[in-house]
Amino acid sequence: MSHLFEHNGAPNTGYSQPPPLQTDQPPNVPPGLLRSKPARWPRLSEPEMVRHYTWLSKRNFGIDTGFYPLGSCTMKHNPRVNEVIAQLPGIADIHPHQPEHHLQGLLAIYYEMQHMLEICAGMDQVTLQPVAGAQGEFTAVRCIQEYFRQRGETQRTKVIVPDSAHGTNPASAAMAGFEIVEIPSLADGRMDLEALSAVADETTAAMMITNPNTLGLFEADIVEASRIVHDAGGQMYYDGANFNAILGITSPGLMGFDAVHFNLHKTFSQPHGGGGPGSGPIGVRSHLAPFLPGPLADRRDSSASEQPRSVDGHWYHWREPEHSIGKVQQWHGNAGAVIRCWAYYRRYGAGLRTMSEHAVLNANYLRHAIHREAEIEGVSHLFVDGAETKVAKHEFTLSMQPAKEQLGISAMDVAKGLLDRGYMAPTVYFPLVVPECMMIEPTETESKDTLDTFANQFAKVLQSDAETLHEAPITTPVRRVDEVYAARNLCLRHPYDD
Ligand SMILES: *Cc1c(COP(=O)(O)O)cnc(C)c1O
Repeated sequence: MSHLFEHNGAPNTGYSQPPPLQTDQPPNVPPGLLRSKPARWPRLSEPEMVRHYTWLSKRNFGIDTGFYPLGSCTMKHNPRVNEVIAQLPGIADIHPHQPEHHLQGLLAIYYEMQHMLEICAGMDQVTLQPVAGAQGEFTAVRCIQEYFRQRGETQRTKVIVPDSAHGTNPASAAMAGFEIVEIPSLADGRMDLEALSAVADETTAAMMITNPNTLGLFEADIVEASRIVHDAGGQMYYDGANFNAILGITSPGLMGFDAVHFNLHKTFSQPHGGGGPGSGPIGVRSHLAPFLPGPLADRRDSSASEQPRSVDGHWYHWREPEHSIGKVQQWHGNAGAVIRCWAYYRRYGAGLRTMSEHAVLNANYLRHAIHREAEIEGVSHLFVDGAETKVAKHEFTLSMQPAKEQLGISAMDVAKGLLDRGYMAPTVYFPLVVPECMMIEPTETESKDTLDTFANQFAKVLQSDAETLHEAPITTPVRRVDEVYAARNLCLRHPYDD
């Protein structure tokens, strides 16, 4: 089947729009923007439409199609009950401009979500405004900037990031106008405290770091790092993309952080990929709370009989923080994502800790299973662990450098070979500190059977002939793509010839 725009059925198929209302008023559209001829909508009947979208969905790979061990992205099962809840009319059909007394249910959900995230993060106030982890980073960094501005500490112009950091950390700080200071990691993949001490001074605004770090290693010296940065007068920022490893076990607050973002779409499940849709709430200590973007959900005890009250005896309302940096998103953030994640956490409750324990168990099991299968298949000499450690957290790295040197098989070749075997490839070439890196995150929702089979197939790919692997993937709708072409040559409309 060709795509929908090329498929132009009979003029009277499908749904017909009612004719526009005839009025004598000139249209309220600038003349230059008016259409000169009718829009060329594709003409399809309902079955043709259904076939089109089903066909499209079959050309894609998603968590519902197969195992998706994309490190750092936390691609876990999205329970369908979340969708049911997000589509309840009382939630899906409300408008953000409705008055508070119409929104008590939504406000209660927002309030509870903020509170739960405050507990998970060990922070004093959460906002649900940002719609991505990266936007959360930018928002928090801006709050830190305003905090220092108000204290007259405008000489704090630098943000420290380790060289294993996710690219969004330096990018967010640079967007806010900070200068980036990168510090090297130790040979074992962890943070170098001496390198940190050497750069932390009165020009430091913040350090941004994730823990466990991007190699899947827990930074055991994190409390000491917080002390070094705080002694220099700076703030500690926690990139919460790796929360899946620590929920209910420890918290950024306990580690000494001042600000945190969550990637709700990763940790708390939410269909995501290809840029969204996400939710990146941030949590901060009380000294940063006045700068947060609004509105925040808040509540007061309405025990006095003359006050209105909600079903749980409270009255929920929106509140604007005193010195807010302003909005970073229209309305109340990505409400749909917030609701799905709320539904998810409500089902787990205190079991969130078990979720993290299983995520860590699965990652460590898979790491050992890959080594075991590679041993059996005789290809264990073709890769090494990306970090010198016995226990990883929720993800781990492998370096394909030996395969590259011995056979000319790169991490990219292995990734493409896995696609032909029905798996989404792990993350490749990140973090940059591991040569020929593959970063693997199975998540807690996969079974032992899936992990064993994947480990076996991974070893089988490494047994392939190098020339054949350079051609992979051969079974996918699209073969090897130019990774940057689409980003550099944006094309957002269908190229009609008229
Ligand atoms: C995913 C991720 C981010 C960015 O989050 P988005 O929601 O994609 O903007 C930041 N840091 C790390 C470590 C990540 O894995």
